[in-house]
Amino acid sequence: MDCIFCRIVRAEIPAEVVARTDDVVAFLDVQPLADGHVLVVPLAHEACVEDLEPAQADALFRVVRLLAGPVREAVDGAGTTIGVNNGTATGQTIPHVHVHIVPRWQNDGAGSVHTIFPRKAYRDVKEVGTLIRAAVAEASSGIDVGRGAD
Ligand SMILES: [Zn+2]
Repeated sequence: MDCIFCRIVRAEIPAEVVARTDDVVAFLDVQPLADGHVLVVPLAHEACVEDLEPAQADALFRVVRLLAGPVREAVDGAGTTIGVNNGTATGQTIPHVHVHIVPRWQNDGAGSVHTIFPRKAYRDVKEVGTLIRAAVAEASSGIDVGRGAD
């Protein structure tokens, strides 16, 4: 398999690894957007978050949570932007789930998540909520999707 993240997971190519568990590896991005830009990847080669088994997702985000503070503190950051490009249409170039942790500073010139998107939401919020709750109910069992805001 040629996936670069799988090769890093297997230690076939060098990476600046900052954490490793039985399920997850975290390493510095080779094209960092900022000092301390970390990628957190599951060992499993899955393209999207929804492709992960629940335990794999739990392990992944457990490490994201663990790293958020130390990554920020190590480079004297004021915060972090944590993001996932989830699917090729979003700009995901490597089809192996990876969570970006990018340290941030006041007035660092980068925007918030909201600045990524030109605002293009046209549908009624309640209608969309109903559609999503129905899809969640179909896709899962044991998740309380609530009743919406009536
Ligand atoms: Zn992979």
